[in-house]
Amino acid sequence: MDQEGFRIPRRFVARDAVVDELARLAQAFDASCREVEVNRDTVNRELGQQYGAIFEAHLQMLRDPRLRTELDEMIRERHYSPEYAVSRVMRRYVKVFQTLENSYLADRAHDIIDIERRLLRNLLGLRREEISQLTSPVVVLAHNLTPSETANLDRQFVRGFVTEIGGPGSHTAIVAGALEIPAVVGMGPFLSDVSGGDLVIIDGDRGEVILHPDEETIARYRHEAEESRSLAARLETLRDLPAETTDGVQVTLLGNIEFPHEVRHCLDRGAGGIGLYRTEFLYLGAETEPNEETHYEAYARVADAMGSRPVVIRTLDLGADKVIGLNPSTVERNPFLGLRSIRVSLRNLPLFRTQLRAILRASVRGNLRIMFPLITTLIELRQAKMVLADVMEDLEESGVEFDRNISVGMMVEVPSTVVMIDHFMSDVDFISIGTNDLIQYTLAVDRDNKDVAALYNASDPAVLRLLQMAVQGAQGRPVNACGQMSGSPPYTMLLLGLGLRQLSVTPSAIPEIKKICRSVSIAHCEEVARHALSLENARDVKNYLKEELKKILPELAD
Ligand code: PEP
Ligand code: MG
Repeated sequence: MDQEGFRIPRRFVARDAVVDELARLAQAFDASCREVEVNRDTVNRELGQQYGAIFEAHLQMLRDPRLRTELDEMIRERHYSPEYAVSRVMRRYVKVFQTLENSYLADRAHDIIDIERRLLRNLLGLRREEISQLTSPVVVLAHNLTPSETANLDRQFVRGFVTEIGGPGSHTAIVAGALEIPAVVGMGPFLSDVSGGDLVIIDGDRGEVILHPDEETIARYRHEAEESRSLAARLETLRDLPAETTDGVQVTLLGNIEFPHEVRHCLDRGAGGIGLYRTEFLYLGAETEPNEETHYEAYARVADAMGSRPVVIRTLDLGADKVIGLNPSTVERNPFLGLRSIRVSLRNLPLFRTQLRAILRASVRGNLRIMFPLITTLIELRQAKMVLADVMEDLEESGVEFDRNISVGMMVEVPSTVVMIDHFMSDVDFISIGTNDLIQYTLAVDRDNKDVAALYNASDPAVLRLLQMAVQGAQGRPVNACGQMSGSPPYTMLLLGLGLRQLSVTPSAIPEIKKICRSVSIAHCEEVARHALSLENARDVKNYLKEELKKILPELAD
């Protein structure tokens, strides 16, 4: 998909297909002219000829014999596909217009882009939205995929994806985990080097994409894929064994989910429960706004599937990169510092109350817990709890059953909350450290921006100290850690050594993390954490943690 969301066409056509391809181009021109004529006539009628003239200009261009000759030659002589020829030629025209000093003329570039899109649409017969209507397996290579676009990728056919922009902590990357497909985000510009039908390898482990691989590379990757399947099969045997350290300490491994169907992924990996259900995904990509029943059905489904195991339902964490629709008038300049998460819920009480009612109603079906995201101040937490108490009262008055003693917790993902953690503890039953946001707010690095991705670092000593402060300040209440760091093997010993006994991870990461828990002692992990905390920069910490893991489980350390 190019920047505007169009499929990048296949580049070349076979010699004997040239005649057919020329005919296809001619048909696309005819169809485009007909569409523009209809638009012109409607506008002439409704608004007058001076407006219809815009389309008349489009028609003139579409009928320009020089343009057609140029395109025909590209197809006939260079064997370009019609789509590729159209995008090459039109892009060149656009560039010429864009460099003109006269801004009125420079704006005409939009008209050319419009004509290009129309031609491509008529050639491809596919629009961006129809990426959800695939009929055969593909890899998606796109300039950008929003979390909701990613959430809507068809799991049956999309085998992997790569984006030019986006950061390692983005929700687009997180959803790849939910889809259990390889992905690389923030690759930088590469789309001009590929076209539809090319062969690519997506190496999600290393964050690499190989275009047009040779036979030897393909063979090497087939071998690696086989090895990783066999490692997964070996780890599967751990499914029903406890995540118990060699010195007998129990670790609880929970799953993070974005969609109710992922309970299957959790149960298949032997998760002890759901540590984080990102409920905002009910909204992302939904055609209509979820009502109380939609919420209820999702929570009841998860509760039923998980039985007596705990399920932590996080209230809506909308905003920042998780936006519903794109309304240009509400685009924020600093969305991660803006109206997001609990702030959205507290500003929009009907939305918040609807969700809380649904969670409470579903609470009788299983072991549900409520968790508020992005709590930054104690007042915010208390406001959220007041709304919850009020909703409980309403339910009681209407005789609706719910779990009156439902556990209520908060996410710790802002440094202010860590610093003040002791003050929060009497107001919550548990906390869950969200390292994805904690890293970005501690280091002032946008988790979604590839240009600063190298600075987004879980190994930073400042992050380690904040984790330590949060665990020590929790006064014995349960502390979970649920960011991406928790499911990343090099950090497991560190997290256990810092005192964490609950980790909530992408379901597919559970077997590896369990393997590590079962291979280490807490005493050793504490030693590792102590040493890591004494180091002064992220690189040293990362290298040290990788080395320590390598000593114990080399197959998980790459
Ligand atoms: C986090 O910030 O670490 C977290 C788990 O929440 P999210 O990734 O949804 O922001
Ligand atoms: Mg977060």
